[in-house]
Amino acid sequence: MNDAAGGGDDILHVARALDAAGLMPNKSGNVSCRTPGGFLITPSGLPYRELTAAQLVEVEWMPAGPQPRTGGPRPSSEWRLHAAIYDRRPEVAAIIHTHSPRATALACAGRGVPPFHYMIALAGGAVRCMPYETFGTEALAEAALRGLWRRRAVLLANHGVVAVGASLARACAVALEVENLAGQYLDLLAAGLQPQLLTDAELEVVISKFADYGRLDR
Ligand code: 13P
Ligand code: ZN
Repeated sequence: MNDAAGGGDDILHVARALDAAGLMPNKSGNVSCRTPGGFLITPSGLPYRELTAAQLVEVEWMPAGPQPRTGGPRPSSEWRLHAAIYDRRPEVAAIIHTHSPRATALACAGRGVPPFHYMIALAGGAVRCMPYETFGTEALAEAALRGLWRRRAVLLANHGVVAVGASLARACAVALEVENLAGQYLDLLAAGLQPQLLTDAELEVVISKFADYGRLDR
């Protein structure tokens, strides 16, 4: 996958890879990327391994607001969440929602990921956990958007994760890293250990180093 925002084939590639890696259990989650007139998103409830590019759904920016194209498969039930993020975060070109197991476990306890490892800089800092809202609702979209303020990832209580980026590759790196960090945090807690946290100043140094690091944050 190159570093462009991504297209239909890239969405399929990312969705299948994250599914195979166990981040999308039982056909959960959804993947989208921005297009000139809106965004392209995975359809609702169709297993990723059987998905074709023709089944991806275009959501178009219309004068009355974002509108999924009709006549084909239904768009992901979370299309409003994706629309809200693209609308209010112009730098975001790709969005990945997962129910990745370890991050979701944390979210089911209403806990976010504190800044205990420098790799959290990929998410822009400590990952918040936002209060529970029903899947597919405007309320969930608003909560996710609030939780993403100055961040590229957010946990949704009793639900999962949203990761965003300037390309599918970047959003994918964030989604994978949040799952990795959540697992490490749970391991620390299970061992009865309290992680020592990085300061804002220490994180800022890492964030600026990542700006020209290369592969991690492309
Ligand atoms: P969709 O299959 O409709 O995308 O829903 C999956 C999901 O994770 C809802 O939050
Ligand atoms: Zn979900």
